[in-house]
Amino acid sequence: MRYQTYLIKYAEIGTKGKNKYVFEDKLVAQIRRALRRLLGTYDVEKRDGRIYVHAPEEYEPQDLIETLQRVFGIWSIHPVLRIEKTDPQELRGQVADYMKDVYGDRPFTFKVRSKRADKGYPLHSDEINRELGEAVLTALPNARVDVHTPEVVLQVEIRDKINIFSEKIPGPGGMPVGTAGRAMLLLSGGIDSPVAGYMIARRGVEIDAVYFHAPPYTSERAKDKVLELAKIVSRYAGPICVHVVNFTKIQLEIYQTCPHDELTIIMRRYMMRIAERFAGQDGALGLVTGESIGQVASQTMYSLQCTNEVCKLPVYRPVIAFDKEDIVQIAKKLGSYEVSIQPYEDCCTIFVAEHPVTKPRLDAIRRSEALLEGKIEAMVEEAVETAESVWVGGRRSAD
Ligand code: ATP
Ligand code: MG
Repeated sequence: MRYQTYLIKYAEIGTKGKNKYVFEDKLVAQIRRALRRLLGTYDVEKRDGRIYVHAPEEYEPQDLIETLQRVFGIWSIHPVLRIEKTDPQELRGQVADYMKDVYGDRPFTFKVRSKRADKGYPLHSDEINRELGEAVLTALPNARVDVHTPEVVLQVEIRDKINIFSEKIPGPGGMPVGTAGRAMLLLSGGIDSPVAGYMIARRGVEIDAVYFHAPPYTSERAKDKVLELAKIVSRYAGPICVHVVNFTKIQLEIYQTCPHDELTIIMRRYMMRIAERFAGQDGALGLVTGESIGQVASQTMYSLQCTNEVCKLPVYRPVIAFDKEDIVQIAKKLGSYEVSIQPYEDCCTIFVAEHPVTKPRLDAIRRSEALLEGKIEAMVEEAVETAESVWVGGRRSAD
């Protein structure tokens, strides 16, 4: 069966009451944005509380479906046969042909669920169900009716036209990006932070990102890897502005001045402070990290408390209670895993202490940081001012 139209059912938007249309419109905008990358012109139509995607004459169904499966807010995608309104007799024939085309000779159980939105149609929905059920049974000897647990639900909607559909392709769920404000993701080259960005975007949050590098200790390749990761996340999250911050001077200063077992914590605190500066510039309402309790010394609850202390904005940590393996699974689904495991150096691994503290004390950390005063402020300013901002996945303003 070659389809020209796809019916989109949305996830939680249905619960939004009076604001529902805002969410629907965002979803439509996000679908349009995603489809712009495909060849040909797709028409996205909002009609009767439904969203339809009309494909061009020539298109690749697999590409279309994969694209829609990256648009948050979509619960399911239904390829629809959309026909002109016809009388019940003609409809029987069309529905039987449709079912034959989709299911062929294989045995299956089904039921018909019809909806008569056009009250002028000559049959009631119960009658339509019966008529069409019978038509399918007659045309397909291997079909059996099961009203309780059917394998196939044949849906027929009598509206301005008639929609016939029975296939259901899962969408990614979540909320349309742009319905929940913006956040600043601390994006490294690891496995966790791209997953964290993806997860927060799935709740409708737009993201920008900050990446700290330490040239010449970290290479241009390491930076490209992070931009590549941002691009993968942007396939779901939409355009992302990545602020690439030169962290070398700050790291060296910390390294030369502070106790080595505290390096990672102090470095993280500066990362947070700088990320907040970019959050302020970009109108982000929170920070996002890929931290997970107990994963490494800098992510014990003691360490997280110390890192968190410098932040005024809320810090969202979507993978905080996830095992590494769970995160890896999501990274594989998202498509970031293969890039994340490429072995490029990260700024954190270069200046890392052999035995980092796992129970840092806030007063000790503050005392060590006091040693940086007088010099570090200018370095932070310089890092913010000289950051390079790179858009990936397009530009948001084009939306
Ligand atoms: P991994 O998968 O190796 O754990 P990670 O990205 O989680 O990678 P961690 O060293 O565990 O790296 O760092 C914890 C969090 O701190 C990251 O998830 C990320 O949000 C932030 N972070 C670490 N290093 C950087 C960096 N160089 N630039 C931006 N954010 C960083
Ligand atoms: Mg990690």
